Amino acid sequence: MALNVLILGGTTEASVLARQVAGNPRLAPILSLAGRTTNPRAQPIATRTGGFGGIKGLVRYLRDEAIEAVIDATHPYADQMSAHAVAACRETGVPLASLVRPEWQAEAGDRWQVVPSFDTAARALGPTPRRVFLSLGRQELHVFAAAPQHHYIARLIERPERADLPPDLRLVQARGPFDREAELRLLTEEQIDVMVSKNSGGDATYAKIEAARALGLPVIMIARPNKPAGQVLTDIEQAVVWLHDLAPRGV
Ligand code: NAP
Repeated sequence: MALNVLILGGTTEASVLARQVAGNPRLAPILSLAGRTTNPRAQPIATRTGGFGGIKGLVRYLRDEAIEAVIDATHPYADQMSAHAVAACRETGVPLASLVRPEWQAEAGDRWQVVPSFDTAARALGPTPRRVFLSLGRQELHVFAAAPQHHYIARLIERPERADLPPDLRLVQARGPFDREAELRLLTEEQIDVMVSKNSGGDATYAKIEAARALGLPVIMIARPNKPAGQVLTDIEQAVVWLHDLAPRGV
């Protein structure tokens, strides 16, 4: 029998991990997506989509599907899913490991202002109208309606559903990864004065930070939430080893 593994995904790491465990006879993985993206990329392992229904729902799912290990590979800002995973795994005794991306660190030339929340980021833009690149998710843009004096450009995979968005907002629909040259072009052509970003960490979205540094642009960096974790793993190889240690031998 193979080890039943639930991978909580929605990130590049989760997709890479899915590729690495696909076809492994000792593992029976399922990748869980929240369902935020209408056309997610095809995955090489079984997937399920949509919330579990809180901690209770996740406990039920773990039991019903006889899950024997959970890897939380959700985004550093997806703190609710992680809190639920910690609670549900504690209740059921299912081992939990969490892939934690190291944060980006400011380097020489970076002009970061670190703020604790999305609201403070909107306030930190100040009273004078600026051209702002919002490198955020579509669920987060509405916060900037509180600072309607700015011209915003937001790059998203798909259009936001909410209507309470900032009045002067232009959407650029695109799916990463983006390289440094493309980011330099976007920031220059759009005459961006300031960028707002999460400290997502990882390589996939770092080019915009390098481009801001090269152009001497200020970045309002929204600090990470306190995200609960199981056993902390910092790369995908560690996750594969962790799963192999739990998997039955001799399959
Ligand atoms: P969140 O605030 O932590 O989660 C909100 C609710 O969405 C959870 O309570 C859960 O619903 C459901 N959910 C979240 N991730 C799920 C998953 N992988 N599988 C099944 N249900 C999930 O999360 P979020 O910030 O909205 O992020 C949603 C998804 O987008 C995550 O998969 C995350 O990895 C990905 N993502 C997030 C960001 C970001 O900046 N937040 C960026 C890139 C990708 P129930 O309580 O009903 O179980």
